[in-house]
Amino acid sequence: MQGLMMNAPLTISSIVHHAERVHGHKEIVSVTRDNPRHRYTYGQAFGRARQLANAIDRWNLSLGDRIATFAWNDYRHLETYYASACSGYVCHTINPRLFPEQIVYIINHADDQWVFLDPDFWPIVEAVADQCPGVKGWVIMTVPEHMPETERDNVLCYEALIAEENREFDWPELDENTACSLCYTSGTTGNPKGVLYSHRSTVLHTYATLMPDTLGISCRDVVMPIVPMFHVNAWGNPYACPVAGAKMVMPGAKMGDGETLATLINEEGVTMSAGVPTVWLNLLNHLRASGQRVETLERIIVGGSACPLSVMEAFDAYGVDTRHAWGMTEMSPLGTTNAAGAQREGFTAEDFAKVRTNVGTPVFGVEVKITDDDNQALPWDGKAFGSLKVRGPWVCSSYFKLDDSEAHAESGWFETGDVATVNRDGYVSITDRTKDVIKSGGEWISSIEVENCATGHPKVAEAAVIGRLHPKWGERPLLIVVRNEDSAALTGDDLKGYLDGKIAKWWIPDDVQFIDAMPHTATGKIQKMDLRDMFADYQFPDA
Ligand code: ADP
Repeated sequence: MQGLMMNAPLTISSIVHHAERVHGHKEIVSVTRDNPRHRYTYGQAFGRARQLANAIDRWNLSLGDRIATFAWNDYRHLETYYASACSGYVCHTINPRLFPEQIVYIINHADDQWVFLDPDFWPIVEAVADQCPGVKGWVIMTVPEHMPETERDNVLCYEALIAEENREFDWPELDENTACSLCYTSGTTGNPKGVLYSHRSTVLHTYATLMPDTLGISCRDVVMPIVPMFHVNAWGNPYACPVAGAKMVMPGAKMGDGETLATLINEEGVTMSAGVPTVWLNLLNHLRASGQRVETLERIIVGGSACPLSVMEAFDAYGVDTRHAWGMTEMSPLGTTNAAGAQREGFTAEDFAKVRTNVGTPVFGVEVKITDDDNQALPWDGKAFGSLKVRGPWVCSSYFKLDDSEAHAESGWFETGDVATVNRDGYVSITDRTKDVIKSGGEWISSIEVENCATGHPKVAEAAVIGRLHPKWGERPLLIVVRNEDSAALTGDDLKGYLDGKIAKWWIPDDVQFIDAMPHTATGKIQKMDLRDMFADYQFPDA
């Protein structure tokens, strides 16, 4: 027997409808090139999104066509998200930090029809425009006074494009499984792969990000998404905030700058923010140097790569709760969140330090399992390491225009490429990416745990561990470190001594090499492939 409930489609236009009616007066504050503090309301934002929808409607696109963006977190990017998805097109967010060849590849692979871009990125885009013959035109997200000079045809100004358009537009009624946005993985191995989100997956993921022990966004929050809108839809913040009625603060191009972030937090009363560990380090460095506080900030969501304990403890001193989260582009991105901070009194200090650095428990909606080399499920005992697999309504079922992928080899599951343990309470600990695991004498060493410990040393700016061949053990860990400025005296022996007693003795790296700068991926993670190339001929001193 079927239930007798309405089958209302879960679409992004329902977010617009709700937010306009209920939270239309709530504010969105943005930093842009043409205005250091632009502010308006959700009501105005969605009115302008309809003006943009009217303009796009004149281009005679077909439903499902891709509209690309190259933009920072700001209000025009938000309008483009909504105008394209609610009209039945797909908003393809492109990471401007990708190499030019990758940008050309994904524009052509996605068959983008129009590209919206921040003026900052025009030089990058103009240089590759000739290699993207399918693109019909380029819209620069600025006012006429700030338009760059160019000889190219079909370069339009965003504000001029929408200026005369009507604020009324009837969003089409879409099936909830219609595609709404597209984001490519950074492609550290092979070409980037497209993850195509649907209206339904996005709305369900939005509900998940609102739950109190996940991102817990409410109408009392002032949310500053630092994670870029070109990286997995800024972890869903642009949808969750209008649903909850949270004020939004968008830092534009200055998202990596500690001083700007501290100023925005204090002047706009930010209570919650989300980003990768690097931006939190930048903010901490600024706070330490300036003596500034961040009194309104209650919690930060940290994910994208492992958050070192030292960063969490440093934020404790500022009264900020650090909530660790794990996920990936293929998971919209939310997979697990660690709400141990909310139950701190239940732990001893030592246990709390241990539990808070893992990535937490699966969010309702995401099912996880760990499997061995024969694809047999491993126990949740906190010890067995296995390949981490997931499934759920916001996990990608296959890549865009790619029929076969190893990640989808097991029907109904997605293989994340991470290696993890899960304890009996469901807390997941990511030990490595499959391609980064170090096997010493047949046993796995968690490079992430060693890196976390090493980063706790006050003279270490960044640390990475890679496996290198060893005649006796097969592989042994090599620790690669960038020293803090003014910490030239730090030696390898200092670091090994520091790690002694903090991690298993046989996990202590056999050697430490110092470099001036870490190679990073387009999403700000340490690029271990480049480190392995840099140290390709390396031999351990005792080898
Ligand atoms: P990309 O694959 O493009 O670098 P993603 O954001 O999709 O970007 O990366 C997902 C991967 O990032 C995960 O599979 C995992 O390896 C890593 N990751 C994400 N969050 C965490 C975390 N909290 N701790 C450790 N690793 C993480």
